[in-house]
Amino acid sequence: MVQDQLIRRGISDEKVLKAFREVPRHKFVPEKYLDSAYGDFPLPIGEGQTVSQPYMVALMTECLELSGKETVLEIGTGSGYQAAILAKVAGEVYSIERIAPLARQAQLRLKDLGYRNIHIKTGDGTMGWKEFAPYDGIIVTAAAPSVPEVLFEQMGLQAKLVIPLGTRFSQILTVVSKHRDKIETKEICACVFVPLLGKYGWGQE
Ligand code: SAH
Repeated sequence: MVQDQLIRRGISDEKVLKAFREVPRHKFVPEKYLDSAYGDFPLPIGEGQTVSQPYMVALMTECLELSGKETVLEIGTGSGYQAAILAKVAGEVYSIERIAPLARQAQLRLKDLGYRNIHIKTGDGTMGWKEFAPYDGIIVTAAAPSVPEVLFEQMGLQAKLVIPLGTRFSQILTVVSKHRDKIETKEICACVFVPLLGKYGWGQE
C-alpha cells in the first residue's frame, strides 16, 4: 500500500509514510471487507459512511504539514482511521462525529489499539470544538458547501485547514492557510466525499 499507492503518487513526508506503515487499517474496516482493507479505494464502514481511500487520507494529512507536536481537529471521525494516522504525526487529536454509534465504535477501537492522544465526541462538527481551540490544523473528512465560519475562528496563526469543497456529489480538495492578516486558498485535486451534514454544512437528509 505504502509503496504502490502513496510513494508512487508523490506522498513524500516520511512521518506520514511511517504512520501508514504503523496503523493497522484492517482493524478499522468491517469484518467482511478484511481482505480488501489495504485496497486502493474507500470502504463502507456502516451507517452509510465510508473510510477514504488510503491515498486521500495520506494526501490530506500531508497537506497539514505537521511536525509532531500540533493540536489537530478532525470533523468526521467515521472509523477512526484518519484520527489514528493523525495521532502519529501530531501531538493531540480532537475528533467529532455526528453519528453516535460510529463515534462510540471508533472510541473503543482506538482505546483497544492503545492510542492516548485521540479525543472523540459526538456532535455537529460544523460548530468546531471551542474548548481546545486554537488548532494548528483542521481536517474535514466530509464534503462541505463552504468553509464553516467557526472553523476559521478556531484556527491558530499559521494553521492549515484541509476541506473538500463543492457540491454534494463532487468536490475540490482545498487547503486554507491562515496568516496574520490574510487567508490563502489552494486547490489540490478533485475528490468525492460523503456530505457534511449540520448547521454550517448541508441540510439534514
Ligand atoms: N475520517 C473517517 C471517514 C469519514 S466519512 C475515517 O477515517 O474513517 C465522513 C464522516 O463524517 C461520516 O462518519 C459522517 O457521519 C461524518 N459527518 C458528517 N457530517 C458531520 C458533522 N457535521 N459533524 C461531524 N461528523 C460529520
